[in-house]
Amino acid sequence: MILLFLGPPGSGKGTQSQLLQKKLNIPHLSTGDMFRKAISEKTTMGLKAKTFMDKGEYVPDEVVIALIQERILQKDCENGFILDGFPRTQPQAGALDAMLATVGRNLSAVINFKIDESQLVNRLTARRTCKNCNRVIHEGEVSADSKPCAKTGQKCEFIQRDDDKPEVVRKRFEVYNTQTAPIISHYKTHPKFIEVNADQTPDAVTQSIIQRL
Ligand code: AMP
Repeated sequence: MILLFLGPPGSGKGTQSQLLQKKLNIPHLSTGDMFRKAISEKTTMGLKAKTFMDKGEYVPDEVVIALIQERILQKDCENGFILDGFPRTQPQAGALDAMLATVGRNLSAVINFKIDESQLVNRLTARRTCKNCNRVIHEGEVSADSKPCAKTGQKCEFIQRDDDKPEVVRKRFEVYNTQTAPIISHYKTHPKFIEVNADQTPDAVTQSIIQRL
């Protein structure tokens, strides 16, 4: 099963991907997480991506397309995968169509996360991300959190992502509205184009997706 998640920053695509990858047993491919990993490893690609991410801008299409192209050919993607954060531009959407056609595969469903933008600014600036396993929680939950980190087995180390800072969040929405919102129409004709109300608890969103898959 190949799932594509669309929706503005902070709409819960990452959280749902993490929940659904376990239920469906397919990997979660987040281009944002891939870039953050490359940045922490200080690779040339990571350092290049950082210059765009820190400003809330998109990393150039050719860099993102090459990254995903290589990733979806890996063995763990044979039974499917969840695309979270790719494609974000028209050229990326075209490249994805071409990549899938080359390997004779199709998107099983496209899920569009719908939520009012005004709520998202608060959600994003209040969120904290574990720098090791990428689990996201609200800043108010950090002190009481006791769930062990999926990577280290120790306590999670929550930080505010640089691009969750208020001025960068505003820029990310501007870029989303100009470059990504228009590609939704590219997918509206897909036989399984599912619009989900993302303004619910994570469990309710998961149920709503699973029921409609
Ligand atoms: P995310 O974690 O998905 O919100 O991504 C964080 C940042 O990584 C974005 O604001 C972009 O700078 C960059 N990024 C992630 N995916 C893409 C993409 N498909 N195209 C361009 N830039 C991306």
